[in-house]
Amino acid sequence: MPKATVRGESFFIALSTMLIILIGIGGYWSYSNITDTRRELEETKNASQKLSENLVQAQNENTDLVYRLQLETERNNSFANQINEIAGTVGVLDKLSKTDEELLQKYSKVYFLNEHYVPPKLTDIDKKYVYEKDRTLMIHSDVWPKLQSLLGATETDGSPLLISSSFRSFGEQSGLKSSYNLTYGAGTANQFSADQGYSEHQLGTTVDFTTEKIDGSFSLFKTTDAYKWLLRNAYKYGFILSYPEDNGYYQFEPWHWRYVGTALAKTLQEEGKYFYDLDQREIDKYLVNIFD
Ligand SMILES: [Zn+2]
Repeated sequence: MPKATVRGESFFIALSTMLIILIGIGGYWSYSNITDTRRELEETKNASQKLSENLVQAQNENTDLVYRLQLETERNNSFANQINEIAGTVGVLDKLSKTDEELLQKYSKVYFLNEHYVPPKLTDIDKKYVYEKDRTLMIHSDVWPKLQSLLGATETDGSPLLISSSFRSFGEQSGLKSSYNLTYGAGTANQFSADQGYSEHQLGTTVDFTTEKIDGSFSLFKTTDAYKWLLRNAYKYGFILSYPEDNGYYQFEPWHWRYVGTALAKTLQEEGKYFYDLDQREIDKYLVNIFD
């Protein structure tokens, strides 16, 4: 074999070996690079997953916090409501304790006013509305503004009313009954004048109306326009007819009107009921707001 050929062969082998080594190194390098990239990718994936998990956890915690806050707010609101309710109840009870419970009582042969009962405060009725000008008529002070509005309205509507009687003490009622008994006899007097203690007049919230035209006559009152006006409008001012026509309780008294407050008067008007037909417990619900 010529020398040059041997040298060429060795060179070729050396070159091949080097090439193989280089390819090997290159292969290893790129293999290890891919592995690294894969690992990094894996790590990134893991980190991302971890982040997602943390986010979900944080969201859950947040939802939990929001829920707890809501719960706490609701509890606070409920507490505030309870406080308001208690305050309201205390207010109502306080108002009720200051309201005269006699004002909405039904009077009968078994339940009547104490002979010493006198309304806490009485006001003189404006003389221009008093039928007998030389008399001083008094009314419960809290009822007077309502009565004044009613009287003012009857003037405007052309059926002016006058007052022939209002507050009467136990003694006055007793005296009145005796005089009626003497004049008309006990049987007749019983038909239109209550015994002392049974009279709503002692409350100071009740009035007897008349008009100039009928000259104070009781029997003619039911024929007047003023009476018809009262039937349509008195409830707006809190007044009711205590003893309407055909009531099973007492003699029909078209002139005799009692203040019971606008709420109760409106209920009675709308439902076509009479005060003495209602149950006392039903009536008592209106006591606290009688002067509203
Ligand atoms: Zn009367």
